[in-house]
Formats: sequence, structure tokens, C-alpha cells
Amino acid sequence: MGHIIGIDLGTTYSCVAYLEGNEPRIIPNLDGLSTTPSVVSFTTSGERLIGNLAMRQAITNPENTIIAIKRLMGKKFNSEEVNDTKNRILYRLAESPNGDAVVELDSRLISPQEISAMILKYLKECAESYLGDKVTETVITVPAHFDDHQRQATKDAAKIVGLEVIRVINEPTSASLTYGFNTKKNATIAVFDIGGGTFDITLMEINDGIFQVLATNGNTYLGGEDFDNRILDWLIDEFKKENNIDLSQDKLALQRIKEAAEKAKRELSFTLESEIHLPFICSEKSGSKHIRKNLTRKKLEELTRDLVDKALPFIEQALNDSKLGCENIDEVILVGGQTRMPLIRKTITEFFGKEPLEHINPDEIVAMGAAIQSGILKGKMKDLILLLDVTPLSLGIDTENDIFIRIIEKNTTIPCKKSRSFTTVEHNQRRVKVKVLQGESEKSSENKPLAVFDLVGIESASAGVPQIDVTFEIDSDGLAKVSAKDVYTGKEQKIEVRPSFGLTQEEINKIIKRT
Ligand code: AMP
Repeated sequence: MGHIIGIDLGTTYSCVAYLEGNEPRIIPNLDGLSTTPSVVSFTTSGERLIGNLAMRQAITNPENTIIAIKRLMGKKFNSEEVNDTKNRILYRLAESPNGDAVVELDSRLISPQEISAMILKYLKECAESYLGDKVTETVITVPAHFDDHQRQATKDAAKIVGLEVIRVINEPTSASLTYGFNTKKNATIAVFDIGGGTFDITLMEINDGIFQVLATNGNTYLGGEDFDNRILDWLIDEFKKENNIDLSQDKLALQRIKEAAEKAKRELSFTLESEIHLPFICSEKSGSKHIRKNLTRKKLEELTRDLVDKALPFIEQALNDSKLGCENIDEVILVGGQTRMPLIRKTITEFFGKEPLEHINPDEIVAMGAAIQSGILKGKMKDLILLLDVTPLSLGIDTENDIFIRIIEKNTTIPCKKSRSFTTVEHNQRRVKVKVLQGESEKSSENKPLAVFDLVGIESASAGVPQIDVTFEIDSDGLAKVSAKDVYTGKEQKIEVRPSFGLTQEEINKIIKRT
């Protein structure tokens, strides 16, 4: 049997860990670094580059360099988030026949799952080279607030490269495993996780090896990329004011500015001022133009303060849901590279009234937790740790007049199963359509449709007489399954909640052949 690895497949960087004995260890990539840019690039000579190599040539080949693909996983092309992303990225997006957002490269459509699979393949190769053995299984992490579509898409990406996902685990939960494993302390902790693309807050109680998530909340569209974009917009505006030249359509210039913006942002976590110097950013009749701008930490904070503040209501909601106050939180753990920003540290310190823990590496803690989870699942640490996670979103069905009925409330411990009875609304109705949704709105139309299925062959009866029991299950990966049963005929129709989105098995097989 091959090795199991824990993978933190991040929006901007990914990280891999494994268990050596009972100790989690980071696996360096082929360049010897602990994290790998989640970037794939296709060169003009037909070569495919991943990670640092891909990142290095992004400036000269922006249209064929795919960054932040995680933001598109499990997303519909016409969603608000994809619309926003479309205006920000330099590669092209298109709509797949089932409405999903896909990458368009030389008139070929590539799903986000396939791009993610390319990154996973590289990470798997790095692990195999480091461990000197085959890697066949993985525990893979996802943002706690990922919905069913996004979780399934992540699992499919792993399947494409022959990695069996033995568990999908939420990133903050994973981080807390590392913390609990290292400290062996009983505590109520808050994990504040903001990486390249997503934000999560998870409140958890650790008690004699039992890790119980109390509440989780977040936004799968708030991350470091948004901070970079604010600097980028500022630089473009300033350049326009000074030179009367609009760089917003110049892809090469945009890629260079984006990289410089991210670099300056990182620097400003440690310095008060950073110089952004981009010579020959464009040229015109009067000669070449350059960007040379000083960005201060104060200005960066002014440009991004609202992004930081945007996270606070999610924390308040999680506290409300778990009936905790800030005074009940013993430790605050920061996860994700973006938490190095001093404004975030200050805001979180003020919010909770305590300093976050210092000695934890926010880039590695998630992958390490995934490695620990692999040990738990394989029975190595079973007696030491019991992990009780929750579902981040309510699951329910659409009823008459656009009313959403919750069957499983958010923050219910998983795996879980709940049933509810439904009846017909017309006389002699033989068929009942059940529309499964995920979300928190009272209105069905404002929640995310997961699937529609039909219960057929209901006995003829007056309206309101048949009794149909619908059972919802959420498994340990946070994925939903629904079944329905006509109580009188005993007829059952089981479904998997994934027909209206994502890849079919046939599509996955096709991708496996060409990957
Ligand atoms: P992660 O997904 O955890 O690797 O986080 C990646 C995000 O963290 C990217 O948006 C990075 O720009 C950001 N990041 C990394 N280091 C720093 C830093 N020193 N200051 C601010 N942001 C950072």
C-alpha cells in the first residue's frame, strides 16, 4: 500500500504534509520549498508548467497562465463571483454545456477540476519523489464554507490523478488539529483563516482529545487576491492621473502590476513603506513609461480596511450560533498567509480582546492537520483524537411559493441524517418533484440549487393523503445525499446530489486519459 498525504490545496499556494511515525511533517516541493504556487501555465511550445516555474513566466504569458483556479471550483459561469473574477483574470473563461465556469485555452475548454488536478499531480509527484514511494491516498482540505458543489469538484480533481480521497476536511478544523496535537491542552479556540481566496471562522472546543466544532462561518470569496486587486486598482488610477494612459486593458502590464502589488503587500507586513518600480510598463510616441510609486502601510490599510471589516459580521454570527462570547475564547489561531497583515492581526486582537497565538506557521498548519487526520482515519491516533465537525450551510428543499424548508440546519455535527414527511398538493398526483437546495435564505430562489429529483409512481389518492418521507444525509466529507420514500407503496428513490453541476463519471474518465 502506498503513502497517504495531507494536501492543503490553496487558492494561491498549496502545501503537502505526511505523518512520520506520529509526527506531521511538511513535504518540500521539487524546488525544496514548503509551499507551491497553485499556478498552471501552458507555453507556446505546448509545455505545461506547474508551481514556481509557471509563476515565473506568468508575466510573459499571462493569457495562458491559470492562477486562483480554486475561486472557480464548483461555480456557475453566470454567478456573481465568476462575473467579478472574469474582469480580474487575464486568461479567458467560458460556459460549459451544464452552465459551469470553465477555462478557455486555444478554443479548448478545460474544467477547473482538471486544472486543479494538474496541480495535485505535481504535488503527488513531489511527495513520491520525497518519500521514495507511491502515494495513493489523501486527506484534502477545503474552506469550511465550501458548499456541496465545491467539495465535490475538489474530490473529482483528486480522482483524476488517481488519488483516493479518504476524507475532505475543513481547513480551520485541520488547523485546530495541529494546534491541539501540539499543545495537548483543553481549550475553546477561534480559528480565523484568510488565505488567497477564501475566509473562514471556526469556533471549536477541545476537550480531552475530542475536537468539537461549535460553529463555522465564512465567505468563499474574500481573500488575499482581493487585497492585491485593491493595490492594482490604485496603481492603475494613479498612473492614469499622472500620464492620462489607461493600463486596464493591457494584459502584460496588468500581470506585472499584479505581481508587484502582491509583493508590496507582503513587504508592508514587515515594513512601513514599499517602493513599486515597474520600468517600461508601456510605451508611446513620447517614449517609454515607468511606474515608480511609494506605497505606505497606512495607504494600504486605507485601501483595504473595508475588506478586513467585512470579516467581522461572520465572526459575530459564528459566536451567536455557538452561544459564545469573546470572553469564552481561550485562544485565537490565525491561519492563511493573508493573516500576516498587521491590520488583520490588530483588528482580530481588538475584536477578541486577546493576542492571537504567535508561534504557528499559518502556511503549514492546515496541511499538517490533514496529515494528522490521515493518521486518525488509519487508526494510528484513533484513541487520541475524535473529530466532530459541522456542516457550514443548511440543507433543505423548495416548497410552494418559493419557501425554503430546512431539513438540516447549518452547524449540525456531521455525519448526520434527518427525515421529513411531505405530501401531494393535487388530487391523484403520481409524481413529486423534490428540489434540493443549500443556503440560509428563507426564499428558495436565493439559495443554491443542488439537484432536482422525481419521486414517481405514487399511489393515486386525494391531495394531502400520500406521505413521502425525504431523508437527507450529510457524510463526513460534508457532502449531501438525499433519498425519498413513499410511505404507503414503500417505493424508494435514492439519488446522489450532483446531477445539475460538475463532471460526470464519463467526463472524469476522459480527463484521466489525457492527464
Ligand atoms: P495561503 O492561501 O494561506 O497560502 O495565503 C496566500 C495569501 O496570503 C496570498 O494572497 C498572499 O499574498 C498572502 N500573503 C502571504 N504572505 C503575506 C504577508 N507577509 N503579508 C500579507 N499577505 C501575505
